[in-house]
Amino acid sequence: MNSQSPTYNFGLCGINCQKCFAFKDGSIRQNSEKLRIDLGNFDVYAKRFVELLDAPIFNKYQDFKEMLDYFASSNCLGCRKQECHLFKSCNVRVCYKTKSVDFCFQCNEFPCNHTGFDEHLEQRWMKINERMKEIGVENYYNEIKDKPRY
Ligand code: SF4
Ligand code: SF4
Repeated sequence: MNSQSPTYNFGLCGINCQKCFAFKDGSIRQNSEKLRIDLGNFDVYAKRFVELLDAPIFNKYQDFKEMLDYFASSNCLGCRKQECHLFKSCNVRVCYKTKSVDFCFQCNEFPCNHTGFDEHLEQRWMKINERMKEIGVENYYNEIKDKPRY
């Protein structure tokens, strides 16, 4: 697969790494980083706003900031370049090296029962690959590119 193709950011299982919170070049990390910068020294203001604006919601700012920092520090390059940072039990990346396919739906064993995924992920994997098989990878990309992954 051509590394310039946008579908290169699909995992071998077909999940869109581009929309993953852990993806370095993904919109979640980039938007989190931008928001983090835009918020600047908001810590100080959040404390003041609790009383000044009579708004206890600002007590939750530290938790929010912690989450935002976490999203902003994501650094996965996608599973075609390195090991997936999230799904440690994924077996697809091992198969990838031996099956000579770009995606599971192209494999003569699909749908196999040794992906290593939990039930929820396996359902998604099956649905995604069946759809790619039906309409083609490029059309599938156009179908989902602007949709959230979650
Ligand atoms: S953590 Fe996994 S799903 Fe997320 S971008 Fe990395 S390889 Fe893709
Ligand atoms: S054997 Fe299963 S996990 Fe491996 S490439 Fe084929 S369909 Fe995917």
